[in-house]
Amino acid sequence: MFWGGGGQEVDTRKLRENMVKRMIKLGVLKTPAIIDAFSSVPRHTFLQGLLPPRQAYVDKPVMVKYPVSTASQPQVVAYMLESLDVEPGMKVLEVGTASGYNAALLAHLTGDPGLVYTIEYEEDLVERAREIFSELGLETISVTSGDGARGWPDGEIFQRIIITAEVDRFYPELLSQLARGGIALAPYNFYDVTTLILRLYKSEEFWGEVLPYPVSFVPLRGKEVGTKQKADSSLHRIWLSLGGRLRFSDPSSHRPWGLFLSILSQWLKGVKRDGSFYWKNWQEMGQPSSRSFKLLFSADGILTDVEWRGSRE
Ligand code: SAH
Repeated sequence: MFWGGGGQEVDTRKLRENMVKRMIKLGVLKTPAIIDAFSSVPRHTFLQGLLPPRQAYVDKPVMVKYPVSTASQPQVVAYMLESLDVEPGMKVLEVGTASGYNAALLAHLTGDPGLVYTIEYEEDLVERAREIFSELGLETISVTSGDGARGWPDGEIFQRIIITAEVDRFYPELLSQLARGGIALAPYNFYDVTTLILRLYKSEEFWGEVLPYPVSFVPLRGKEVGTKQKADSSLHRIWLSLGGRLRFSDPSSHRPWGLFLSILSQWLKGVKRDGSFYWKNWQEMGQPSSRSFKLLFSADGILTDVEWRGSRE
């Protein structure tokens, strides 16, 4: 079925403008270049065959291929792009193409679709995205099928890497493709407690920030993915240590309580496992520190500790 046909003309530009206005009002969209990207890229084209154009501009995630692939909620896409800090001319890698929408936004931000590389596990989705890219004149976006945990097949180097599936580690092979001074962003699952956006900077060492924005993503799959880390008390300590530094400033200010409750409920799940441990740590947490911290990873990319002293520069 062709959505939008049958006399059901829809002014998608107007719908897009309204979506953008709503996200600006929420405080999630700020940067002019990103606002411009969201105003230009037709989300409904990336969701064709899945739902009517009008619904493509509602702030909701959309299933692209059940149950493995979802086009993220526009608000989450916006939040991640605002955090990724893409500048014109940068080479960017996306892991998890799905609909291709985010890759198209990235193409807008880099100013050249040829600078955008996107890798997707599902071969049929690669084909689908490729067709839509050509339909929109974005055929120079490189899209390939494969396991993004291993990075881009030809070992390119990228100034920015954005993972759009949930991970519980930063895969060393993937990170080796991040340029010095580069930024990688991922929905990071903290030992099954919660998933928050982790922003990582690569310099001599790895530095990072946890962005106080709980999200839900489909998990990364593939041979390299490894078994999910199960919480144990020492790992919980890390999560709590991070959690205590979160600033509860949800950009969508209409739902600060939603954010609080979501983190609290996830925390309570842990309390049941080890109440005294949590209570002690909860009390000890708190004093705000610099938002950036040094990240220590195990050899297989799992975050094992954080260091608060020092500064990134
Ligand atoms: N960026 C997308 C949303 C991504 S959904 C958009 O704008 O629409 C996450 C995607 O990651 C899914 O399509 C899933 O198939 C894919 N994926 C899962 N594991 C992967 C892996 N190891 N490598 C590459 N892609 C993967």
